[in-house]
Amino acid sequence: MEQVLLLNSDLQPLHLTTWKRALVLLLKGKAECMEKINSIEDYIEVDNTLIPKVIKLKENKAIPCTELPFSRENIYKRDEYTCQYCGKHLSSDELTLDHVYPKSRLGPDTWENIVACCKECNQYKANRTPKEAGMKLLRRPERPSDGKLFELTKNSSKNVKYWLKFYKSA
Ligand SMILES: [Zn+2]
Repeated sequence: MEQVLLLNSDLQPLHLTTWKRALVLLLKGKAECMEKINSIEDYIEVDNTLIPKVIKLKENKAIPCTELPFSRENIYKRDEYTCQYCGKHLSSDELTLDHVYPKSRLGPDTWENIVACCKECNQYKANRTPKEAGMKLLRRPERPSDGKLFELTKNSSKNVKYWLKFYKSA
């Protein structure tokens, strides 16, 4: 389903919402369009109705500081669905997670110790560190510093570029 970027009244991004929810917020008067939208580019068309790609709340909503969830899919997204050892680009089904410092040797489940990996590299590396296995990571794994930006840019929608024009980092 097409999504709409919901901004707080101070223009901080809140999250992506469905176009239906966006429409409800607009109709209830809880949200409004951005001031400077006037071309067809600014809208998505659903069932012959034009819905803005970005809307903002009229009243600021206090947002709890939520961390980007640590999940298999988010690790894949961070690593751009690429094996961090051989650089092969793969689908979720073909990828697996690798503990850089092996789990069997108490390597932790953290953003900094887990990377996307193809099954071959994972099997070859086994219970060794990259150094022991003579393998090199493409880059050092880190926690994404801006969770909101991460959710936005890693979205598969064709509207990502458009949304980013309205993105103001916290
Ligand atoms: Zn690989």
